[in-house]
Amino acid sequence: MSLKLPIYMDHAATTPCDPRAVEAMLPYFTEKYGNSGSRNHRFGWEAEAGVDEAREQAALLIGASEKEIIFTSGSTESNNIAIKGAAYMYEKAPAGSKNRGHIITCTIEHKAVLDPVKRLVKEGFDATFLETARDGIVTAEMIKGALRPDTILVTIMWANNEIGTINEIREIGALCKERGVIFHTDATQWVGKMPTNVDADNIDLLSWSGHKIYGPKGIGALYVRRHRPRVRLQALQDGGGQERGFRSGTLNIPGIVGFGKACEIARLEMESDAIRLGRLRKKLETEVCRQLDTCAVNGHAERRLPHIANISFGFVEGEGLMMAVKNIACSSGSACTSASLEPSYVLKGIGVGDDLAHSSLRLSLGKWTTEEQVDYTISEVVKAVKKLREMSPLYDMHKEGIDLSKVEWAHH
Ligand SMILES: *Cc1c(COP(=O)(O)O)cnc(C)c1O
Repeated sequence: MSLKLPIYMDHAATTPCDPRAVEAMLPYFTEKYGNSGSRNHRFGWEAEAGVDEAREQAALLIGASEKEIIFTSGSTESNNIAIKGAAYMYEKAPAGSKNRGHIITCTIEHKAVLDPVKRLVKEGFDATFLETARDGIVTAEMIKGALRPDTILVTIMWANNEIGTINEIREIGALCKERGVIFHTDATQWVGKMPTNVDADNIDLLSWSGHKIYGPKGIGALYVRRHRPRVRLQALQDGGGQERGFRSGTLNIPGIVGFGKACEIARLEMESDAIRLGRLRKKLETEVCRQLDTCAVNGHAERRLPHIANISFGFVEGEGLMMAVKNIACSSGSACTSASLEPSYVLKGIGVGDDLAHSSLRLSLGKWTTEEQVDYTISEVVKAVKKLREMSPLYDMHKEGIDLSKVEWAHH
C-alpha cells in the first residue's frame, strides 16, 4: 500500500549512505576543514584526528593494525595499486623483458581486477585466467594446479559481485603463504557483510570500498600486510608521499571519516543483517522458483553471500524482462557495451548460455530492504515472466514436452 516505487534491489551495485556516516562527515566540510598534513596548527590536527579514528575503525573491521590501512578512492584504485604495485615490485625481470613473472586470477573477477592484469600481460607478465565450474567457485585445488615457480601474485575475489558465490579464500591464502606468493583479494562484496580477519584468513593485500558498505562513494581502502611477510609495493602515483608513499595526494578527509563510520557500523551490525537478509533472499529464490517452472539460481546454492540472488528464466527475452520489471531496480544478465547488448561475461564464464544469460536478473538486498519489498518483488517477477511466456511459442512447445534445451533447471 505504502510501498514506494521503484524498489531498490541493486545493493551489489551500490548502497545508500547510512545517515550516521553522513552525520559524522558533515563537520569535516565546513568546520574541521584542515589538511591532515598540516602539522603546525589546530585545523591540521583536527583533520588528522578524524583520519586516525577512521583508520582504526577500518583496521578493526578486518583484524588489521592501523598502519596497514591505505586510503584510496575505492576498490578500483585499491586493486590497481595492489596488483600493479606488487607485480612491479616482485618482478623476476625488468621492463622490456619477456617473462617478468606469473600472475593467477580468474575469468569471472571484476573488471577492476581483470583489466590491471591484462595491462600487465601487455607489459611482459604472464597470467593464468582460471575458469570455474558452473557453481562459480575458485578452490585452493585450482590455484594449486596453476602455481608455477615463477608465480609472483595470486588475485582472487572473496565473493563474486554478480552471482554472490564465495571463494576458498582462507585455503588459497594458506597455499600462497606456503609457496611464498603474494595473495591479493578484491573483498568489495565481502568485507562489511561477513566476518574478516586478515591474519586468520592468510591475506597479504585486500581491497574494499565505502559505497558498497553504506558509506560514501569515491572512498575505499587497501590493506597492505606489514609483518610475515612485509609486503612492498611500487607506488603508481608520485607526489607528496601521503599514505606511506603508496598513495600520494591530499586525503579526502570527509570521505575517510564517513568510510570509517560505515566500517564501525558494519562491524557492529553485519551479523544480524546477514541473518535477516539471508532469510529474505532465500525466500525470494524459493518463491520465484516455486511459482515458475524453468528457472535456475546461478552460482552455488549454499556457498554464497546472504544478500545476492541471481536467477535465470527460460523462455523469456531479456530486454522484455527488464521492461516488465520496471518497478524493481535491479541488474540484468546483459551488459551494455558501446554497440550492443552483450551477455554478462560472468554468467558466460560459469557456462550459462547467451540467451539464458540475457534473461537473468541479479536482485541484491540491503540493510533497509523490508519483507514487504521482497514480497512485492516476488510477485512482480513472477507476473512479468508469466506474461512474457504467454507470448512465447517456444514455451508452448516446451510445455507440450518437446525437449528444447539441456539446461539443468532448479526444482523446488
Ligand atoms: C563495486 C566493485 C568494484 C569497484 O569498486 P569501486 O569502489 O566502485 O571502484 C570492484 N570489485 C568488486 C567486486 C565490486 O563489487
